[in-house]
Amino acid sequence: MASGCRDCKTCTKPGIARWMQDWTVGFIHLCTAGISLLAKRGTARHCPQCKHYLSNHARRRDGSFQD
Ligand SMILES: [Zn+2]
Ligand SMILES: [Zn+2]
Repeated sequence: MASGCRDCKTCTKPGIARWMQDWTVGFIHLCTAGISLLAKRGTARHCPQCKHYLSNHARRRDGSFQD
């Protein structure tokens, strides 16, 4: 797994909060038999580095970093 992006809200969360979110997301995928996973892949854009939602990243629309 990638170490994470410094501009990603999920990657910069405290460890326990991140763990909780990962667990919750995994549980939702399990409950919906992977449908939510497919829906997620089909609709949302993801970061190629950490695989989190690209909307959670503090990047400009052109892909450059905000700082
Ligand atoms: Zn991330
Ligand atoms: Zn990222």
